[in-house]
Order: sequence, then structure tokens, then C-alpha cells
Amino acid sequence: MVDKTRLYLSEMGVDIFWFRTKPITNHGSDDNLSIIEKNVEDCKKCSLHKIRDNIVFGDGDSSADLMIIGEAPGREEDKAGKPFIGRAGKLLNSFLSSINLDRESIFITNTVKCRPPENRNPSEAEIQSCSGFLDRQIDIIKPKVLVLLGKIAANRLLNQDKPISELRLKKFFIEKYNIPIIVFYHPAYILRSPSQKTKVWDDLKFLKSIISSDDC
Ligand code: SF4
Repeated sequence: MVDKTRLYLSEMGVDIFWFRTKPITNHGSDDNLSIIEKNVEDCKKCSLHKIRDNIVFGDGDSSADLMIIGEAPGREEDKAGKPFIGRAGKLLNSFLSSINLDRESIFITNTVKCRPPENRNPSEAEIQSCSGFLDRQIDIIKPKVLVLLGKIAANRLLNQDKPISELRLKKFFIEKYNIPIIVFYHPAYILRSPSQKTKVWDDLKFLKSIISSDDC
């Protein structure tokens, strides 16, 4: 059918350079993410734009099955414009590789896209101002599992103001996304409290069980 159409258009003298022989792929789209990234670059919706060196949009596979959402960029992320590249990021990479996941196969971003001063928590107003960008990223990537790192991300997506100890090892579903959402300790917290590191292994096993289950 496609070849017949191409032939027909060609015989009509119509330029067919645009004619796709393959359908546009499944969920994620780099083009759509690029549009949002440009919107974030231009964004001045909250005061964090005044002190950023770079926006930190997020990176990874735009069709990822697994999307990880942290809190906010830190100093190194702000300088490089990339998420999770400091010590916490390296720890996160090692957690992921322990269950055979690599950074390139997932998408990682933050709740807010600009660094709060002195690495303070983003305010409720800043989180709200930035919320549309995160929602659009999730809509485009359409992950099959969301992992929220720490209280800020958990609060934003699940509307649960509880300690992480009460949220981890549970599977949440929210009407908007209807995919499993789970909560991990933030790797920065694990760096500050290394005694909690053993619990991360339980979190990773839990994630792995969800990835291999029928929910995905
Ligand atoms: S944190 Fe979000 S809302 Fe605030 S300026 Fe940056 S991109 Fe805009």
C-alpha cells in the first residue's frame, strides 16, 4: 500500500521526500521533548530562573519504560545542565547497574528544572510553577513505571506528606497516569545516612519485581 502510494505520488510529480516508510514510533518523541525543553529554557515563571547557570531538563531515553524523578538540580547539575551527575548521581548509577539497568535506557529528571539557592528544597510555589513541564514530560515519555526519589518528588506526584519510610515498598496508582509509582530514598539522603544503604537493596528488588510483573 505504501509503495503504491509512493509510486502514485512520484508519477504525479509530487516530491515524496517526506513520505515515511515506517510509522512514527510508539511512546516517546525527541521532537516533542525538544519543544518542551525550549519552553523550559525560556521559562521565567519563578524566581529560580534568575540564579540558574543552566536549566536541567532531564536526560535519557525518550521512550523509556522507567522514569526517575528527583527533587531539584544541585550545583554540579546546574553547571553542566544535566541531572544526577554529582556524588548522588554516581550512587544512583551504581544502584541501577546492580539490577542491570543503565542510565541510557531510562529517563531521569527533577521536580523543578532550575537549581534552588544553596541547594535548599524548592518551595511549594516553585514546584507548582514548574509542574506543567514535569506533567508534559511524563505524558510524552509514557513510562511504564515511575520511581520518585525522596519526599519532594513523592509529595508532588502522590500528594502524600509522609516520611519515605512509610511510602517505600508500596505501589501507588494515581488516576492521571495509571502506572505503578514507587518511592525510593533519595541517593543524597543515603550519602548522608550510609546505615540506610541496606534498605536500598530491598527497594531495588521491589522495583525489579514490578518491572518483571504483568503491571508493566
Ligand atoms: S524552576 Fe521551573 S518554573 Fe521556575 S524558572 Fe525554572 S523552569 Fe521555570
